[in-house]
Amino acid sequence: MRPSRFFNHCPRCGVSQTPPADKAPFQCAGCGFRYYFNAGAAVAAFVTRPDGQWLFIRRAKDPGKGLLAPAGGFVDFDETAEAAVHRELREEVGIGLRDLRFVCSHPNAYLYGGITYPTLDFFFTATLEPGSEPQALDEVTSVGWYDRKSVRPEDLAFDSMRHAWKQLMKQLDP
Ligand SMILES: [Zn+2]
Repeated sequence: MRPSRFFNHCPRCGVSQTPPADKAPFQCAGCGFRYYFNAGAAVAAFVTRPDGQWLFIRRAKDPGKGLLAPAGGFVDFDETAEAAVHRELREEVGIGLRDLRFVCSHPNAYLYGGITYPTLDFFFTATLEPGSEPQALDEVTSVGWYDRKSVRPEDLAFDSMRHAWKQLMKQLDP
């Protein structure tokens, strides 16, 4: 269920409302307040090291608890996607990134606390900053380096990641 389904009162004036239809904005009949429901922006990076292996984490929390994923997270207000990738990788696995490159974006449905949040996930590749050593920090159970052939799209936590990994593999093995 998307967040808009819970807008049965106006958050500004409190008047009772019928929640808006899927993808429609909230429009208050009382005070005229209008609110558009947009996708939340998220980022993730597929990181390589000089021997050609790729960094993946195991997610410590739902959604996708225990599953493999590239490290990443949500973009903050007033933050670029590039700055968000650098921040999230530092917070989750304690590493610095070099050679950040955009791969693709893909929509995702992020189920959290019984509510499905539509997101738009931006995927990057990067190389490990020399001297950086990944460790499992925020919301991460473990980190590992993998041969790219050993990670199948279906091993990854979210649909958007599966799509991006496939796309990246196509670029690397055309
Ligand atoms: Zn209102």
